[in-house]
Amino acid sequence: MIDFTLTEDQLALQDMAREFAEKEMRPKAARYDQGHEFPEDVMRKAFEVGFLTCTIPAELGGGGLGDLETAIISEELCRGCAGMYTTMMANSLAFTPILLAGTAEQKKKFLTPFTQKMAFASYCLTEREAGSDNAAIRTTAKKAGGEYVINGSKCFITNGGVASLYVVFANAAPEKGLRGLSAFIVPRETPGISVGKVEDKMGHRASNTTELFFEDVRIPAENLVGREGAGFLIAMKTFDKTRADVGAAGVGIARAALEYAIEYAKTRVQFGKPIAIYQAIMFKIADMATEIDAARLLVWRAAWLADHGKPCGRESAMAKLFGTDLGMRVTTEALQIFGGYGYMRDYPVEKLMRDAKLLQIYEGTNEIQRLVIGREVIGPIRERK
Ligand SMILES: Cc1cc2nc3c(=O)[nH]c(=O)nc-3n(C[C@H](O)[C@H](O)[C@H](O)COP(=O)(O)OP(=O)(O)OC[C@H]3O[C@@H](n4cnc5c(N)ncnc54)[C@H](O)[C@@H]3O)c2cc1C
Repeated sequence: MIDFTLTEDQLALQDMAREFAEKEMRPKAARYDQGHEFPEDVMRKAFEVGFLTCTIPAELGGGGLGDLETAIISEELCRGCAGMYTTMMANSLAFTPILLAGTAEQKKKFLTPFTQKMAFASYCLTEREAGSDNAAIRTTAKKAGGEYVINGSKCFITNGGVASLYVVFANAAPEKGLRGLSAFIVPRETPGISVGKVEDKMGHRASNTTELFFEDVRIPAENLVGREGAGFLIAMKTFDKTRADVGAAGVGIARAALEYAIEYAKTRVQFGKPIAIYQAIMFKIADMATEIDAARLLVWRAAWLADHGKPCGRESAMAKLFGTDLGMRVTTEALQIFGGYGYMRDYPVEKLMRDAKLLQIYEGTNEIQRLVIGREVIGPIRERK
């Protein structure tokens, strides 16, 4: 039986995230966007209500949320401000490899402190020459006695400049290519780490995105997550779990854009009538609302599968692809409904459009999602010589 009813707990969580987005995030979104400033005051409140640690198990002091609950709050929070949402959810992204493949001691030692005071974490996969192509990662982790020595650099790392903990993907056996990749827990205070360029971004400007350098960074061997060589698998399993949330974020931005567009279309009068009456506008709004509902269903399906421990690579890629392409389409159409006013910074829709763009790029570009989906849908292809 299919049941779309949320439980009382899920509804309460949804309400809490919606209220937080409306009261704490939205009123400050334009200011932090324009100032390209880290929203520390909002994050402090987000920590207090548990959004920075929502996926850490309850027994470690976290929220213990499942995948569906995380998707539900992702939609609500991103409706408030995508940049602030990205800051919060980058924590969950960094925690996921530890939750999936870490030992009980690693979880206790490295995740519990996040539940005790406000702190941030980063997931460090991307490099200048290795974006979509993880096999090209050049950061190395050389085993030396009871330690690994990490050398290399990462780019475009969310929370890079504010994090107290990095989960770093590095190659411990470069001759093995992807099969040499491993994941390591690297505390920020370890000597040899430096933060490079802070990126000046088109959107998500409240989030902090930086380069990171690792020069002879020595970490104990017990900071290896899972086994040596399992890094690529851990990175992909992480994305299987987190990509539905990016799809949900697309739905949240789209919902915000639709709400602003409806309000505007009902009050903007041209040719003596509110423009919402004209079919050109009404049909846009109907399509936006329909696609938002469709995207949410894809997101919830992927999250449900993840919650039940079922394979969900294809479904979470579909949720990310459709939800974030939808975010771009809907924000573009909303801006069109605002006409020239939409193009001005005085109105909120241009920010939504700038923010929507990033969701099509991070956690694997949407071209890569199509590769994931296409390969699974088509199956093996025998090339003819
Ligand atoms: C603001 C921001 C925050 C980010 N945060 C993080 C973070 O916290 N941690 C992290 O590790 N990374 C992060 N990233 C990096 C992000 O995941 C990468 O930018 C993304 O994976 C794409 O890599 P790239 O930018 O090098 O593009 P490239 O891989 O160079 O791709 C360029 C273009 O080619 C296309 N392309 C590449 N290969 C193929 C192919 N085989 N088939 C078809 N098309 C292809 C891509 O889809 C894209 O359109 C962030 C990026 C940004 C912009």
